Amino acid sequence: MSPLELGVGDGGAYMGDMITSGRACLNLRDWSAGAEAFAQLGLGLPRYYVCPLCLRGFTEDQAPLLTREHVPPRALGGRRLVLTCRDCNSTAGHQIDSHAAEIERVRDFRRHKPGNSYTAHCQAEGGIGANVEAEWSADGKLSIAGVPETNAPGALDHLNAELTRRWREGRGWPTSSLSVRFRHQVSPRRASVSWLRAAYLAAFASLGYRYAFRKEVDLVRKQIQQPDICLIKSFYQEAPDATASEPAIVLLNQPHWACGLAVQMGEHLVLLPYGDDAVSYYQRLRCAGGDGTPVTFAGKALPWPERAEFRLDYALPSERALYAKIVNGGGETGNAR
Ligand SMILES: [Zn+2]
Repeated sequence: MSPLELGVGDGGAYMGDMITSGRACLNLRDWSAGAEAFAQLGLGLPRYYVCPLCLRGFTEDQAPLLTREHVPPRALGGRRLVLTCRDCNSTAGHQIDSHAAEIERVRDFRRHKPGNSYTAHCQAEGGIGANVEAEWSADGKLSIAGVPETNAPGALDHLNAELTRRWREGRGWPTSSLSVRFRHQVSPRRASVSWLRAAYLAAFASLGYRYAFRKEVDLVRKQIQQPDICLIKSFYQEAPDATASEPAIVLLNQPHWACGLAVQMGEHLVLLPYGDDAVSYYQRLRCAGGDGTPVTFAGKALPWPERAEFRLDYALPSERALYAKIVNGGGETGNAR
């Protein structure tokens, strides 16, 4: 959708909503910053804040219909970063963010993160196992407790005897025999789209409308809006060896097949198109880098936005040209990650 096709948010459905005055002030400040950035495009339209996800425009009176969204989602440690409309914000929470959060919660178990209790199944030798609650302590010790009401008679006794025998024999206890369970059914697809959404919002916060309105970004928004349909196959990868402790946005110029935007959030790496047809870009990603050879990404790192910065909307034409040059495989190459 081009910016000229913008619709105007319908405030009618929200007339009964109550907001605090403090939050309203924050919304207005962010609305104003976004509307100013949008005005920089010189489209001759009234002052709107345009939701970066659905591209509906909201007037100043409709600012309460926007919410400051956490990027990444709050359950994944994100901070409030950009305004999106309430429809887009609440839909994501229900549809996709809970899947990413649940997968991350279970990963925290593998990282020995204390403070969470996990429902798990402990498999003892001899084929009999038992349901337990497991928790890591701050000093790295794992404690498990049986839950009698979720176990068959004798199962906990058998497990207890097995653990005692191993302890007497001086044998360690294999943590691989413990399977942690998800609290609800999890869709890895929805979880990855949640990361795609977070990456796109971070890119919008950093680069602004001149990035969000690029033709190639349409496909990204469509994928976010239709998480269960596989419109893009390869946009996400886990980078468990990631050394970056801080989230990062990088204008990639290496390797050549990935030139575009990389958004890294902990172990999660999302690639977004920039200056290339989206279908060709993601097809290239799918074909390249899949042979197990380690890939080094490099380019120009942009600081992670503390608030919406709209860099491209305010950039001089020469700076915009430089960004385009970088993602076309040229320009600056510092800040390799
Ligand atoms: Zn929206």
